[in-house]
Amino acid sequence: MEQDLDRILIPRDKIQERVREMARGIAATYGDECDGLMIVPILAGSIIFLADLIRCLPFKMGIGLMTMSRYRGATTTGGDTQLIHDLNVDIKNRHVLIVDDVLDSGGTLRAVRDQLRHREPASIRICVLLRKTARAPKDLLADFVGFDIEDVFVVGYGLDYNGHYRNWPDIGVLRPELYS
Ligand code: 5GP
Ligand code: MG
Repeated sequence: MEQDLDRILIPRDKIQERVREMARGIAATYGDECDGLMIVPILAGSIIFLADLIRCLPFKMGIGLMTMSRYRGATTTGGDTQLIHDLNVDIKNRHVLIVDDVLDSGGTLRAVRDQLRHREPASIRICVLLRKTARAPKDLLADFVGFDIEDVFVVGYGLDYNGHYRNWPDIGVLRPELYS
């Protein structure tokens, strides 16, 4: 697996440090409204980030699962966002925090946010591990951002290419010859 990487973009210790900082920011923002927060991770790319983040959040919360997919294995943007599994809990009057891996063009998060809005939550905020600044849309602002990165395709720490590399602990860039 390691030999498939061109370079490490964000090493594991830097990720851990930043995730702890983000958790502190989230706890401070919600304040008294922390208890009962409903976390909605966008599967599957956010799984490792989610697992680390929620273990740094010291209050009662729920997790609502939903799967959206955009990139069907390819490394370029394109195609519609598809709802693969709908949310499995009621979020009416709950504060909702959407957790995703990457904010790129914003199509995925916009689709999720619009789905959730219909269900009358008390509020919706967005937390992403990575934001690609090249294309980040003006109308969709993330409330919590781990790292701003350049426009490269990254894998590791939950992010895949064709289903692989999610278990790699760092965030890295694949060797270009592996994209096909
Ligand atoms: P958007 O809808 O904002 O254009 O794309 C966001 C989604 O595309 C993310 O939730 C993520 O699943 C996927 N994505 C965007 N950039 C990357 C990347 O560099 N690597 C991987 N593995 N997935 C990405
Ligand atoms: Mg995703």
